[in-house]
Amino acid sequence: MCIRDSCPRGAGRSYGDEALLDSQVLLDVSAMNRILEFDEEKALVTVEAGARLIDIYEQVHYRNLTLPSSPTESHSTVSGAISANVNGKDAWRQGSFAHQVVRLSMLTADGEVLEIDRSHELFDVVVSGIGLTGIILDATLQLKPIPSPYLMVHRYPAANVDALLETMDKVEQSYDLAVVWMDAYARGDKTGRSVIHAGTWIEDDATEAQRKELLAAGYERLDKHRRLGLGLHEAFGPLLSLALYAQRPMLKVFNWLYYVMNRFGERNGPSSNTELFLRFSFEASFTVPPAHLVCGARGYTVQLTFPKSQAREAIVELMGICQSSPSPPVTTILRAHKADDGLLSFSEDGYSLNFEFHPKKYNEVESRKAIDRIIDATAKRGGKIHLAKDQVMTPEQFARIYPRHTELLEYKRRLDPEDLFTSDLARRVGLTPS
Ligand SMILES: Cc1cc2nc3c(=O)[nH]c(=O)nc-3n(C[C@H](O)[C@H](O)[C@H](O)COP(=O)(O)OP(=O)(O)OC[C@H]3O[C@@H](n4cnc5c(N)ncnc54)[C@H](O)[C@@H]3O)c2cc1C
Repeated sequence: MCIRDSCPRGAGRSYGDEALLDSQVLLDVSAMNRILEFDEEKALVTVEAGARLIDIYEQVHYRNLTLPSSPTESHSTVSGAISANVNGKDAWRQGSFAHQVVRLSMLTADGEVLEIDRSHELFDVVVSGIGLTGIILDATLQLKPIPSPYLMVHRYPAANVDALLETMDKVEQSYDLAVVWMDAYARGDKTGRSVIHAGTWIEDDATEAQRKELLAAGYERLDKHRRLGLGLHEAFGPLLSLALYAQRPMLKVFNWLYYVMNRFGERNGPSSNTELFLRFSFEASFTVPPAHLVCGARGYTVQLTFPKSQAREAIVELMGICQSSPSPPVTTILRAHKADDGLLSFSEDGYSLNFEFHPKKYNEVESRKAIDRIIDATAKRGGKIHLAKDQVMTPEQFARIYPRHTELLEYKRRLDPEDLFTSDLARRVGLTPS
């Protein structure tokens, strides 16, 4: 066998096959992880491709700086975050990760190193370009000053889709970060029942040294939670998988309880607490074991967008499809976004819904039909499916969802006509220059 094709890979935290290439070469950049330069005054940091987001936080957060658009998975590398143009809980304010990229350098298939800034014609090709145009070597990122590493977090229960959208309108105007837990099992006039978690940066009078100490304890706690999550999974994972055979009644009760608890938590206003950003943003990726462990070999995630102008009908339709599936989603999360120009960007002036599905062997075919209906419902509204989380799209579905892939292919024919850089995902959805 001649090994020629290769796939750039950061930390391998994509859910699907975006950073995989069966029987070929993975170009793992995770050891290229140095912070090359930090300019505190201008809030700029230059890092090698494999630096992880959490490593950047360790260097800058205690100085009251943050890296906007950080995904929940803080172990993602900078090059993985750029190539997948990931998003955070601040996506409607800060946009996707590309918004923070000032410049980057990229090694092309013919050995040339290109310097690409925001005005370069390749900028919107490389960000969101899922590693198909070359290997990102380093990047400079714009950090954002914050008053402290703390957030004030409010929780707003919403009885249905109308209450949800009305509250989100207000949240988007006055908060910095938000994430919505949604009950995909609520029906009728309760469709879209949710709890909105909204955070605002707040002042704190700790000194820099105190913040450093406090955050070190915060990282340690997150690591402890990771070990706890994995330990619990090891002890009770098989039981949980078994329990998921009764997921419909179980999650109906769980979701209802979660909503009711938050409803009762409201006394003279929404329930609230102060919390480290680290916890608000990253806790879930530490505590919840990797999806393949929780959801099993057949589990998968689908994250899709829809425009704000069609939010109500999109949510009602998507919840209806989920409920008609033999295995409705185990978790459903909504986020607000804003659009950008990356050719394969997962972005939208609107919202995204992230579903975690856990189909069983006996209902796999029927479950897949529901996914196809979800993809159709997304395509008809011009929405996107997040490639970093996809493992199901067909070439036909991909072409409908990402019509600008033809532009990416034109650049690829110029930069990498031999298709040196590819991935299982690129091959699955037909993203090859020939
Ligand atoms: C628990 C969990 C939570 C998550 N939460 C979010 C979230 O909130 N928001 C979100 O948007 N995503 C989220 N993700 C997805 C994850 O953040 C992205 O998939 C991210 O791209 C992973 O980074 P990585 O370094 O692991 O990249 P990899 O998975 O290794 O690679 C991702 C892509 O980048 C390319 N690539 C990597 N390095 C290079 C390079 N040096 N040059 C060129 N191309 C390169 C790869 O070829 C691939 O196409 C989550 C994932 C998990 C597991």
